[in-house]
Amino acid sequence: MQATHTKNPFDYLGLDPILLRAVYGLGYEAPTPIQKEAIPAILTDRDVIGTAQTGSGKTAAFVLPILHRLLKQSPGRTRALILSPTRELAAQIEVALRGLAKGTKIRGHAVYGGVGMAAQEHALRSGVDVVVATPGRLLDHMSRRNVDFRGLQVLVLDEADRMLDMGFLPDVRRIVDALPRDRQTLLFAATMPPEIEGLSRSIMRNPVRIAVSPPYRPPPTIRHEVFPVPQHLKTALLVRLLGREDMMSVLVFVRTKRRADRVARQAGQAGFDVARMHGDRSQSQRETALAGFRSGRHQVLIATDVAARGIDVEGISHVINYDVPTVPTDYVHRVGRTARMEAEGDAITFVAPEEETDVRRIEKALGKAIPRVTLPDFDYRAPPPPRVHPPEGGRHPQSRRASGRRDSRRGPPPRRRKDHR
Ligand code: AMP
Repeated sequence: MQATHTKNPFDYLGLDPILLRAVYGLGYEAPTPIQKEAIPAILTDRDVIGTAQTGSGKTAAFVLPILHRLLKQSPGRTRALILSPTRELAAQIEVALRGLAKGTKIRGHAVYGGVGMAAQEHALRSGVDVVVATPGRLLDHMSRRNVDFRGLQVLVLDEADRMLDMGFLPDVRRIVDALPRDRQTLLFAATMPPEIEGLSRSIMRNPVRIAVSPPYRPPPTIRHEVFPVPQHLKTALLVRLLGREDMMSVLVFVRTKRRADRVARQAGQAGFDVARMHGDRSQSQRETALAGFRSGRHQVLIATDVAARGIDVEGISHVINYDVPTVPTDYVHRVGRTARMEAEGDAITFVAPEEETDVRRIEKALGKAIPRVTLPDFDYRAPPPPRVHPPEGGRHPQSRRASGRRDSRRGPPPRRRKDHR
């Protein structure tokens, strides 16, 4: 790329010119707040605790200084480890690393469950510079002595609060215990629960603390709306909304894997192009779903919280909470999928009467009330579908399960998208 005389705000952070070229190549015009604060601190070799939301640019905030450090060294040993709660996030960090390391010889490899061990083992045994890993799979490799961390210099715990939620803290501690003590440790989290504070005290040395936005607060560019609706009409409401012209790329969150399957099937029957992502799907199914959503082939991605963690898809126009998350942080993580990088986005939450308490908790965490919206031409009084008698066309009695309302659509022919503007 041609050198220019105009200074880019990235030039002032102290990064190697080769990294600046990669950053410009990615089209980053200015460091995000977390990058502006964390990069210089990490470059001084200090331990850093960063409280930052997903979408804040935190990956580059720790990857760039790691690359800067490694650039000055000869390769051949694993010198940085990034721990991530989910395989999707690990894969994304690997991709981000590849982009930021462009023009260098530094290599990273992601190591996570659900795929074969062989390629990972090969990369680990070759002493790949940066390992990005989920805790469980990494422990597998460690127990097989596939990886040598004796040369490790930097440890990153990304989305540490999520690792706590997912029960990974004991694994994380076991991994950290096996690492050299003389290292730099960086910890990133959207929130700092006491357990994470405790962990940081035991594994970090006098960390610099950087918080770029108050915890629990999603980006201000998100428009929040609550749609009160009886539980049994949620799918009908979803189908109605999906038909709106502005629903370009919609991420729908549901509470359980079973609900994800059901809602995906119903929205598919209504004529929408829908992908699914949840914990029971294989790694390749998840990757295909995500790739199809990212490319715009699927208008809708239906996901559970864990599966959707860290999904980084540009241009998500709407996040729809089909179910209200019971924890306010989950709400923030979910709606943070839209309005990434200061773009605008809409967060719509369906609220059945029994979920009102959860909404109030979220409103309290946001520090404001969320406007209630009702559609004038939607029949909120439509009766619940029959539950005792099988609906017309006689389906199987197994549809009596809690989620079995799936079979009780009122008319057999699938509804077409154009009918639901
Ligand atoms: P993250 O919070 O690390 O998941 O990053 C969210 C998205 O922001 C990713 O798609 C990054 O490529 C992008 N990004 C990171 N830093 C910048 C920047 N300084 N300018 C523009 N986009 C960025």
